[in-house]
Amino acid sequence: MVDAFTDALDWPFFEPRHRTLGRDISAWAAAHLRHAGHEDVDTACRRLVRELGAAGWLRYGVGGTAYGGHGDAIDTRAVCLLREALARESGLADFALAMPGLGSGAITLAGSDAQKERYLPRVASGEAIAAFALSEPDAGSDVAALALSARADGDAFVLEGDKTWISNGGIADFYVVFARTGEAPGARGISAFIVDADTPGLVIAERIDVIAPHPLARLRFSNCRVPISQRIGEAGEGFKVAMRTLDVFRTSVAAAALGFARRAMDEALQRAASRKMFNQHLSDFQLTQAKLAQMATTIDSAALLVYRAAWQRDQGRSVTREAAMAKLTATEGAQQVIDAAVQIFGGQGVVSGETVERLYREIRSLRIYEGASEVQQLIIGRDLLKGLAASEGKP
Ligand SMILES: Cc1cc2nc3c(=O)[nH]c(=O)nc-3n(C[C@H](O)[C@H](O)[C@H](O)COP(=O)(O)OP(=O)(O)OC[C@H]3O[C@@H](n4cnc5c(N)ncnc54)[C@H](O)[C@@H]3O)c2cc1C
Repeated sequence: MVDAFTDALDWPFFEPRHRTLGRDISAWAAAHLRHAGHEDVDTACRRLVRELGAAGWLRYGVGGTAYGGHGDAIDTRAVCLLREALARESGLADFALAMPGLGSGAITLAGSDAQKERYLPRVASGEAIAAFALSEPDAGSDVAALALSARADGDAFVLEGDKTWISNGGIADFYVVFARTGEAPGARGISAFIVDADTPGLVIAERIDVIAPHPLARLRFSNCRVPISQRIGEAGEGFKVAMRTLDVFRTSVAAAALGFARRAMDEALQRAASRKMFNQHLSDFQLTQAKLAQMATTIDSAALLVYRAAWQRDQGRSVTREAAMAKLTATEGAQQVIDAAVQIFGGQGVVSGETVERLYREIRSLRIYEGASEVQQLIIGRDLLKGLAASEGKP
């Protein structure tokens, strides 16, 4: 069968190293991820992190060759290709690749040399698991409203409050935690801290089960003392650091959605071409061909937006609008593509363990996390209006 993923590697967004990487990760994923194990999700995730680390793939999520990273800056196109290829085979493998980068992204972007030396090499090799702790029970989309407090006390900060929906919660070795330090109201009064998982006062308050299982938890911080040396960057800069981190990784969420959609497309094509009905095959009907055509067009539109955003970021340009467009289009589009694939499978499409059934569950939360679709729409709308105001010379 024609492989649309490797075909797209010829697009002008890529350089020769990306084409090699795309083929290598595709072959690795097919060889290593086809046979699902029977472990629980924590064990499977730890194993995948170790395997991805040993194979060298986690190095792409870390910036700085001196710290184990693949390059001095994070190569967004490479991270997107890795996520797309892994997501085609396994949602958990994609998660295991993405979270170390997101969890340690703030350290790569704004950490001190000592913090980078202590944490990044272990993340790049898969020896340490990182987590990104921003969301709270009352601060999700409106994240600048976060309330977890960090009070200065001698040479430490004391953290009090809850974080929730924290991926890798329960298995992480350290958490990058965004807390209110109060230099100014709202977004300008937040700082970022690295909190080791065994710090006294940090407990896993609750594990959360979701429709596509992966390690997820609510964290509680009670009188949790964190040395001042664990603060990332300056006081009050945490929100900016969080947004810069999300700017890097948001496009890669879109790439993961693209991987899920490509797999659904492959499954649907095979099924439509082989399923006999009314003395023909399902694929002989024009209604089916129209469905397949829409699915393929949705996937290509998403892919073009994903790699436009990734390429643009790798040129050092701002991608706030482009990354939002990519995430919105790829995640919403993948949901439609996967739904159409389930429909093509008929009853078999909703049987537990069927690939399209799994994809149907895997895709859902990508439309919510790292900014729900509505938030992406707001980002795009505001950016358009800002551009108009700037062109008219308004502040
Ligand atoms: C599987 C999973 C993994 C996650 N992993 C992490 C993690 O590792 N670290 C972390 O910090 N967080 C994580 N999150 C949290 C995630 O980022 C939040 O769930 C997300 O930001 C939405 O916040 P909320 O759930 O509080 O929903 P709410 O903020 O209550 O939003 C609910 C809905 O309101 C709508 N909405 C939002 N804003 C607007 C608006 N302005 N206008 C109209 N409608 C709007 C959207 O449809 C949105 O889905 C994860 C979430 C999930 C589901």
